[in-house]
Amino acid sequence: MTEIQERLDELKELGLFRRMRLVSGPQGPRVVLDGKPVLLLCSNNYLGLADHPRVREAAADAAMRWGVGAGASRLVSGTMTVHRRLEESLAMFKGTESALLFGSGYLANLGVVSALGGPGTTIFSDELNHASLIDGCRLARGETFVYGHCDLDHLEWGLQQAVRDGDGRRGRARPPLIVTDSVFSMDGDVAPLEGIVELAEHYGARVVVDEAHGTGCMGPDGRGAIAEAGLEGQIDVVIGTLGKALGSYGAFAACDGEMAAYLTNTARSLIFSTAPPPPAVAGAMAALDLLFEQPRRVERLQCNAAVLRDELAREGFEVAGSTTQIIPLIVGEADVAMRVCEAALERGVFAQAIRPPTVPDGTSRLRLAVMASHTKDELREAARVLGKAALAAGWRPSAGVPIAA
Ligand code: PMP
Repeated sequence: MTEIQERLDELKELGLFRRMRLVSGPQGPRVVLDGKPVLLLCSNNYLGLADHPRVREAAADAAMRWGVGAGASRLVSGTMTVHRRLEESLAMFKGTESALLFGSGYLANLGVVSALGGPGTTIFSDELNHASLIDGCRLARGETFVYGHCDLDHLEWGLQQAVRDGDGRRGRARPPLIVTDSVFSMDGDVAPLEGIVELAEHYGARVVVDEAHGTGCMGPDGRGAIAEAGLEGQIDVVIGTLGKALGSYGAFAACDGEMAAYLTNTARSLIFSTAPPPPAVAGAMAALDLLFEQPRRVERLQCNAAVLRDELAREGFEVAGSTTQIIPLIVGEADVAMRVCEAALERGVFAQAIRPPTVPDGTSRLRLAVMASHTKDELREAARVLGKAALAAGWRPSAGVPIAA
């Protein structure tokens, strides 16, 4: 047996082995999964734009006009008019001077955090930040201080130490850097952005906020959690992905012109990677236009999320932490989470189980993602099925609360 096979066997024994499931057709509320029709409750196509006719047409037209691939990295010959147009629109959307397109959210976070961090800079990172921010901290090769989830006191304590130990205040070389998700990807709660900005001002730190799950999902016109908190223009770099609410693929960093020039010259994941494909860029542009034209999609998403949270509570599930379209059902052990997931699948609902290392040990969960395109009946049906699946898998969501049989 090879050492690789041994490691795979170990993952299987721990209940942590993963395989890909196969979806036939677009990411709608109902899909065919591994040959079986199911209600889809774990897609980030939050606004239902990935398969919108105008988005599809825009991508198809772009393929005919510009070709499928960008052919080169951004700084060689890969920046085409289609990229520039979307960057201008995204900057307007996020209320910043500039926006820079990256290949994906993962690449944007790697590039931005490693470019702003580095030896001599302490990075302050929420303990539940997305893996791409964590990897960005690792790549920065400086100090990283991981603060407790949304814990402003802990963050302030860390900043005090860093400033005392000589990290620069703003204006001096390499100020500290605070990085956080806005909407946490596995918990659906929102970072205390106002408090973070206040601390950053006080201690002279820069702030990077990853709006992967806020963009298109909250705030006025879907402009995100930062806009909802009234903090537009006060964050050094706002990251957003095009792969979730905006229905496409790719990502952006929104910031001022000086920062954009800095990132263009230092973010290695931008410099050394092919520019995003024109059809994906044009598809995202069409999705952004639809967001401007039809802000009701965002309201519908939020309303659907509230419906599912209520229905789940009625089934005895604990969903207290989530205030967004991401709703975790925290099961605990990985094998139990898998059993609940399979039991729901058998009953026609697909909500993927999320296990370590994506989430901390002992917090395996079903991560439910609501879409604006779900109907209320579908969400009610999903909650009922999940209640039955929990029962069938022998999991009691919250002690003392009876689960409907
Ligand atoms: N940040 C967060 C918070 C995410 O959840 C994700 C995707 N799961 C990413 C970044 C990466 O974005 P992308 O899928 O565009 O690489």
